[in-house]
Amino acid sequence: MKKLHWTLKKLLEEYPDDDYIVHKYRRSVLRQQADRLLSLGFRGMLAKSFKLKHINALATSWREEGYSEAEIYNELPSLRWWVIHIRKKNLLAELSKLVEVDKMRYPENTKYPQIGTCLHCRMDCRLTDGSEVYPHRPDLSDLLLWVCDPCFAKVGTHKPTTNPLGFAANQETATARKQLHSVFDPLWENEEKKLMMRDLVYLYLGTHMGLYPHESHIAKFSKKQCEEAALLLKNETPGSLMNWKKQGAKKQATS
Ligand SMILES: [Zn+2]
Repeated sequence: MKKLHWTLKKLLEEYPDDDYIVHKYRRSVLRQQADRLLSLGFRGMLAKSFKLKHINALATSWREEGYSEAEIYNELPSLRWWVIHIRKKNLLAELSKLVEVDKMRYPENTKYPQIGTCLHCRMDCRLTDGSEVYPHRPDLSDLLLWVCDPCFAKVGTHKPTTNPLGFAANQETATARKQLHSVFDPLWENEEKKLMMRDLVYLYLGTHMGLYPHESHIAKFSKKQCEEAALLLKNETPGSLMNWKKQGAKKQATS
């Protein structure tokens, strides 16, 4: 193993992400970035020797290869992680200068893998369309889906990107998610500020289930989590959730 790959591997072991999926994604992005640096002639480099000239060389090579602004933007979280953990926070500002966000066609979610991951085996999925998954439903043929062949798991995508909606799941989990939606959706769908209300329901679930905000989403839940969430929401109303929020705010104000 090259010195750069080895020292990055050590750094990842020293600072693992709480979320395994994020960790695995970061590892693979960093590995590609290290490969690129070596191919650009930075041989004998270590993780801690990362400098401004490396940032600029990476950016130039991505642009020469025709990367879009959004694609370059997606490379940045791992580089930020890198400079923070080698204690070169002065490079953060340089990284922010690389991309003009308003040039991007749509801001992409940079926190998550853009590749579908299977909830059951945690392996990468394969992108396909509705004509394969729903052969008898020509009306669904244009749908994009990530599928895991060994688990028969699938998940849809955020239009107009191919970003997965959550973790691909098997039929049993999909049914549990659907059942949870039947309890979850009435709590926000007909409310005046419905998106705010939906966020509140997710906040309530995340708080009670011990999840990070980014984990509190039905498309990421397992069957067991769906059942737990449905139980938590069973006796709630939009009003009771608003009350819960107000009490929380009061508590924070007095503590
Ligand atoms: Zn699988």
